[in-house]
Amino acid sequence: AKEKGKNNYQLYNPELNGAVSRKLEIENGLRKAINNNELQLVYQPKMDLKTREVIGMEALLRWNNPDIGFVSPAEFIPIAEETGQIIPIGKWVLREACEQNKKWQEEGLPKVCISVNVSVRQFQHSGFVSYVKRVLEETELDPQYLELEITESVIQNIEESTEVLKQLRALGISTSIDDFGTGYSSLHVLKELPIDTLKIDKSFIDDITELEEDSMVKSIIDLSLNLKLSVVAEGIEYEKQASLLTDFRCSYGQGYYFSKPLAASDFEKYLQQQSA
Ligand code: C2E
Ligand code: CA
Ligand code: CA
Ligand code: CA
Repeated sequence: AKEKGKNNYQLYNPELNGAVSRKLEIENGLRKAINNNELQLVYQPKMDLKTREVIGMEALLRWNNPDIGFVSPAEFIPIAEETGQIIPIGKWVLREACEQNKKWQEEGLPKVCISVNVSVRQFQHSGFVSYVKRVLEETELDPQYLELEITESVIQNIEESTEVLKQLRALGISTSIDDFGTGYSSLHVLKELPIDTLKIDKSFIDDITELEEDSMVKSIIDLSLNLKLSVVAEGIEYEKQASLLTDFRCSYGQGYYFSKPLAASDFEKYLQQQSA
């Protein structure tokens, strides 16, 4: 069996169970993902629920490795967070997203905001704000067309987060709290944080069927309006949800009902159709 070379790797590690070896495989694969051009962004349109026009898009990461195949970000992002690989990956995502948005604007497409997901570890990384600043300068993207999505978990350290959010705001970009409602943000904290938008988690949108005046979704929308925050509903799959959300005065929405995340060339067509 010796001459089989690197295939023996697995034979020499019989103690590894499936989950652990899968994780190692992902960790090792990720190490070369950027240089091997295995990462790609897809773009999901964000709609104005009233006019049904595209007002922005969310950049979502895709990874296709020749050996492992397609791996969901829900699986590899947490691993990248754990290992610290999220730092270079996050930098790649931010730059790619800003470059792409700038390119579309230069091609004369309607100018829309691009939303980029930022993980906790990235947000807490000391060089984060200066990196965002540098990418804006280098891509020459007007900061009003960049939004960063962070989750409630970054708010655990309120003082530090507030400071970072202030610095980001000073750059002229906007920020949103993603997956809102799944964490533990208190009203007080929300009021103090320099953020612009709440994104209601899909799990709450799944629930809405009938006009329920006392629903969680309605409460979150009312809260946002009171705090002068804009509000986005994510995971809209049916017209019924879109129209109920509009009745509840939710301004924006995303979901398969409007469009799945699209490859750059398809998003471009989608945006063109809208403006035609
Ligand atoms: P997320 O930020 O909450 O993104 C929304 C997820 O829901 C995306 O999954 C999107 O494709 C999916 N989605 C959108 N509309 C619908 C719908 O109507 N129905 C259903 N069932 N799903 C819908 P995706 O792309 O697999 O991403 C999963 C998660 O991975 C994201 O959740 C985000 O937490 C993370 N992620 C993705 N890209 C990045 C990235 O560039 N950086 C970081 N840090 N995290 C990322
Ligand atoms: Ca998001
Ligand atoms: Ca989300
Ligand atoms: Ca989510």
